[in-house]
Amino acid sequence: MIREENLIGFLFFLTILFQSCTMVKITVSDQRSQSPRHVLLDGDTVVTTWGAIKVNQSDFFPSSFRIKSNGKVIFIDPVETNGTDKADYLFLTHAHPDHFSMKDIRKLTKPETIFICARGPGRRLSKYDYHIKQVKPGDKLDLGDGLKCEAVAAYNTKPVFLWIKAHPKSQQNVGYILTLGNRVRIYHAGDTDYIPEMSNIRDISLALVPVGGDNLTMNIEDAAKMVNEIGPEVVVPMHYEVKKQEDLMNFKSLVEKKVKVEIL
Ligand SMILES: [Zn+2]
Repeated sequence: MIREENLIGFLFFLTILFQSCTMVKITVSDQRSQSPRHVLLDGDTVVTTWGAIKVNQSDFFPSSFRIKSNGKVIFIDPVETNGTDKADYLFLTHAHPDHFSMKDIRKLTKPETIFICARGPGRRLSKYDYHIKQVKPGDKLDLGDGLKCEAVAAYNTKPVFLWIKAHPKSQQNVGYILTLGNRVRIYHAGDTDYIPEMSNIRDISLALVPVGGDNLTMNIEDAAKMVNEIGPEVVVPMHYEVKKQEDLMNFKSLVEKKVKVEIL
C-alpha cells in the first residue's frame, strides 16, 4: 500500500527530476525575506541565505548558502541568489536543480573561480572551461587561503517510491565539511538520510542540515537525532517547505539545548 506521504515525496521528486525540462521552473518565492539572513560565526565568517525559492507551486527553503570568510567568497549549491559577489570557491553537492543552477553558476563565476563538486555536477560542467576539482565521499582537499574541505557521504537509505531512491549511494553525491582558518568548521550535509558515516563528524561550528523528509532527506526526527549525535554549536535547518513552520518548531524542541537552532 502506498502511503500519502510517500506519494507526496515521490511527486516532489518527479518535479525536481524534470526541472531541466522547461515545463517546471525554479523561481524566487514571494515569501522570500526582504533582506538576506545571516549567521555570524566568529566575527570574520558570515553565512548568508537569500531565503525561499519556488519549486513549481511549493515555497521551499533551499540548501543554498554564501560564506564569506577571511576575504574569500564561497558558495554552496547556489540557486536564485541575489548580490554581485563572484565566487572564489563554488561547492556543489549534486546535480538536482534545487542545488545546481547554471543560471547562478554563470552569474557567480569569474575566471579564477574554483569548483569543488561531486561526480554529477562535475559531468554537467565538464564541457565548460571551468577549474573543476571533482570529489567523492572521503576525499580531503587543502585549497590554500586557510580553506580545507572534506567531501562526506550523502545518500538515501529509504526509497522515495517502491525501490527508487532519490539520492542513491552509487551516485556518490556528497556533503562538505569546510574548515576555515583553524577554528570554524561548517558541515553542509547535502541531500541525505541519517547515515552511519555521520557518526565520525565532530567539532562542527555550524551544521546545515536538511529536515524536509518526504523520503528525499532526513525528516525532523532523524535530523534532530543526527544533530544531537554530532553536537554542532549552531544548526540551521534547510531543504523544507516553508509552510511547515510547525515542523521547524518541533525540530527545535527535539534538539538538545546546548545546540543553538537558527531558523533562517
Ligand atoms: Zn536532491
